[in-house]
Amino acid sequence: MKDDNCIFCKIAAGEIPSATLYEDDDFRVILDIEPASKGHALILPKEHYANLYELDDELAAKAMVLAKKMVTKLTAILGCDGYNVVQNNGTVAGQTVFHFHMHLIPRYQGDGVKLGWKQGTLTDEVKEEILTKIREK
Ligand code: AMP
Ligand code: ZN
Repeated sequence: MKDDNCIFCKIAAGEIPSATLYEDDDFRVILDIEPASKGHALILPKEHYANLYELDDELAAKAMVLAKKMVTKLTAILGCDGYNVVQNNGTVAGQTVFHFHMHLIPRYQGDGVKLGWKQGTLTDEVKEEILTKIREK
């Protein structure tokens, strides 16, 4: 399914031009227009899924295989030193375009890219709460 109001549906369908690195029946991989680093790319499914919760299981598996292939190829091309694969779900998590996508962000020594969080402490109380609840599911 496509969403007429979704820019990534239009880009994935080729209705809006993009810097396309790869395309198959299920996905288009494009360069991000506001890259965190040189070579920052996005994997877009051609069908509209708002986020990971909605994503079809089979497509989810294919997306990860494609991420692996793209990261491997791009590392050789870009000569980067590492990669972050990032995927945001919900406004609170930084999602701004509500069509599932995976960020492939090349990392270079000293690039200054910031994706981090302040590390907390796993307390026994929280650990037990979550372990108990997930066992009940
Ligand atoms: P997120 O914040 O995870 O939803 O990521 C959205 C990403 O899409 C951002 O990194 C934007 O720079 C990128 N973006 C938005 N519009 C376009 C576009 N027309 N072409 C390429 N990348 C885009
Ligand atoms: Zn869409």
